[in-house]
Amino acid sequence: MRTVLLANGKNIDSLILDEQAVPIPSRGEVRVRMKAHTLNHIDLWVLSGSPAYSVTLPHVMGSEGVGVVDFIGEGVGPDFSLKVGDSVALSPGQGCLVCELCRSGSESLCPSYRVLGGHLPGVFSEYVSLPATRLLPVPPSVSPLLASAVTLAGATAHQGLVIRGGAQAGERWLVVGASGGVGHLACLLGLALKLEVYGTYGPEKKKTVLARSMDIPLVSHESQDWPETVMRLSGKPFDGVLDTVGGATIPRILPLLRKGGRAVVVGETTGSPTQFPTRELFGRQLSLHGVYLAHRSDILAMLNWVSHGDIRPIVTDVGPLTSIAPLQNAYRRMSERDFVGKLGFVWQ
Ligand SMILES: [Zn+2]
Repeated sequence: MRTVLLANGKNIDSLILDEQAVPIPSRGEVRVRMKAHTLNHIDLWVLSGSPAYSVTLPHVMGSEGVGVVDFIGEGVGPDFSLKVGDSVALSPGQGCLVCELCRSGSESLCPSYRVLGGHLPGVFSEYVSLPATRLLPVPPSVSPLLASAVTLAGATAHQGLVIRGGAQAGERWLVVGASGGVGHLACLLGLALKLEVYGTYGPEKKKTVLARSMDIPLVSHESQDWPETVMRLSGKPFDGVLDTVGGATIPRILPLLRKGGRAVVVGETTGSPTQFPTRELFGRQLSLHGVYLAHRSDILAMLNWVSHGDIRPIVTDVGPLTSIAPLQNAYRRMSERDFVGKLGFVWQ
């Protein structure tokens, strides 16, 4: 079987398409024949040797994937309700499943929380064998590529907007970084939730692609006065801001919130702020939430939205993977921010 392996160094040129034996499930595991995968910024951090994901080489890449149940190993309990041939998504992150945090649905707070492809071997292989607890059912109507796109990025958008942000129908929300994986899914989810959604994006050329997918006011955050432009368009302060860019934008997003408004930060791709607007935070009684990935309930919620046609992610198929070159090019596009939505590939 083919496997995407980071072989001899932590850079895009060290990616290879390796030939490996099909895995035999250990006790409690299920083997999945993978159909489609999507790329994430976690992959880029791994490729750049970030200490947050200090993997040992050689390392199988990838956090997101969807396939079908291929073989159910020994020791898989009767509570595993899926059968051979069923479509399944892999839960990218998982805690211990037994502690109070895991049982109460706060899985990503568990000290044992580990992410496939980041802390653990990844899933970009034609077959993977994983604990049965990592598998979630995918509605038959959802294509593997679309389903894959929401298992990490979509679930993070759901956790940020709905669970931590508490977004309610009729509220006005701004998504900073609306062209990225989490950002565009947050916009689509916001529209499905009947929020009034505004979005910011980077280079001007992304606007056309975004506008085809979502009918919302869009402002480029590359212009220095983008906060003023957003406020002029909305006419009122925002109930919430979901910031996928983080870092340097934080001092600029807090003044856009109404009194008691909520800011949710799900990423930090622009570095850290040199000044923190403490007065904005306490003076206007704002809430600031940090979100790192999501829980399986977020994945199931997003799959449900996609299955009903309420959310249709932008996913570009960069394959086929007859060689590693298409994937290397896709990662170069990601590192240069030359993409909108999600990039992925399908095993053929
Ligand atoms: Zn736990």
